Amino acid sequence: MNIPESKLPRVVIVGGGFAGVSMAKSLANKNVQVVLIDKRNYHTFQPLLYQVSSAGLEPDSIAYPLRKIIKNHKHTYFRLTEVEEIDANKKIIHTDIGTLTFDYLILATGTKTNYFGNKTIEAHSMPMKKVPQALNIRSLILQNFESAAVSNNKADREALLNFVIVGGGPTGVELAGAIAELKNHILPRDYKDIDANRMQIHLLEGNARVLPPMSEHASKKAEQFLHKLGVKVHCNTFVKDYDGKTVTTNSDLVLQSETLIWAAGVTGRPVKGLDAKVVMEHSNRYKVNRYNQVEGYDSIFALGDIALMETEAFPKGHPQVAQPAIQQGKLLGKNLLRLIDKKPLKEFIYNDKGSMATVGRNKAVVDLKHYKFAGFFAWFVWMFVHLMSLVGFRNRVIVFFNWTYNYINFDKAARLIIRPYNKK
Ligand SMILES: Cc1cc2nc3c(=O)[nH]c(=O)nc-3n(C[C@H](O)[C@H](O)[C@H](O)COP(=O)(O)OP(=O)(O)OC[C@H]3O[C@@H](n4cnc5c(N)ncnc54)[C@H](O)[C@@H]3O)c2cc1C
Repeated sequence: MNIPESKLPRVVIVGGGFAGVSMAKSLANKNVQVVLIDKRNYHTFQPLLYQVSSAGLEPDSIAYPLRKIIKNHKHTYFRLTEVEEIDANKKIIHTDIGTLTFDYLILATGTKTNYFGNKTIEAHSMPMKKVPQALNIRSLILQNFESAAVSNNKADREALLNFVIVGGGPTGVELAGAIAELKNHILPRDYKDIDANRMQIHLLEGNARVLPPMSEHASKKAEQFLHKLGVKVHCNTFVKDYDGKTVTTNSDLVLQSETLIWAAGVTGRPVKGLDAKVVMEHSNRYKVNRYNQVEGYDSIFALGDIALMETEAFPKGHPQVAQPAIQQGKLLGKNLLRLIDKKPLKEFIYNDKGSMATVGRNKAVVDLKHYKFAGFFAWFVWMFVHLMSLVGFRNRVIVFFNWTYNYINFDKAARLIIRPYNKK
């Protein structure tokens, strides 16, 4: 892999997501050699993927080159490849561009979409975990509008204009709100040949309320906002199947739709090679101790979404969101230097800063520890936090400009079918 030999201990970080990047930053210019590996050459800001899907932002506003992040880190290298297997005894990783030895291995590989074993849903639905998938959704929505504009078959037209989103967590809620804004502001202006009232957005959630990880106040408010935007919310509803045309559920609800977006859950993305016992069965996450050390391995660690750390406060592990990943990465960087210096390590304690979700223009919900609020101020806070969390000044400026422009003009500027999506 053409990494120079050095006297410094080699730390290999697999995954340039929130956890891996935070760890690489905390080891910048320290006395260790860092090799950051990712199968993509960019970091994805997943919380704003839904804005790419709904034509609000271009993908390069929410992605950032990993080489640029580490450009001033003296002993850090980036390699674009997928890690296929770990040989823990020999301390080697196998990739499609060769093998690499490590002194310390950090697994920060995140998660993938969970279809709960349903192959038909997997084959026909649209996931939204990666930039290319978000672009697929954007293309399909716009292609559906174009097809609906020329279709003279009522049933076909309705299936093209029926959008079904499965999963009422923050991703599903945010996407449903954003698609509703396309219906309310873009369709009547751009597609005068389509009756916008025919377009329907259905949000299906298995739990009794949307945003199940948030407070009841947030769920109630979010549901009210969704109703106002015209989204049909179906709680206690599980999708049984989808063959590309018909959505069947556990209730009488049957929907005809050309588009089913699957935001119903994720599962860990472990790498082959470690003892099967350390990968938890239900979540596919590595079981780690309070120092993010994978159980039974002295020099292998796991971070972020892929790590399951059981604590008194979080007996089922930390929530799979950005903050635990960032905080674990930062602490593990410091702990690793302590480990090398044979100093005692510090236990990870999650600082929960609260959670939030936006439903649309002037509509968001925020849960802080002692304060819960919704509406315009929550939306403003949501925008500020997301803008500040984006990697790179350029991306912040572009996103800020886009949001301001969209707000003033009720517009979504990225309505381009650059790469048409071929639905199977
Ligand atoms: C649509 C969506 C919306 C979200 N919204 C929010 C939100 O609003 N707020 C929030 O806090 N969280 C949100 N999350 C969750 C948040 O994005 C994750 O918790 C966070 O990304 C976890 O960080 P991570 O570093 O563990 O994994 P990731 O950020 O997923 O990074 C994993 C990296 O590992 C790489 N990788 C995986 N396997 C390999 C391999 N074998 N070899 C090489 N590279 C590999 C991947 O390419 C990827 O870059 C959202 C997630 C999604 C999908």
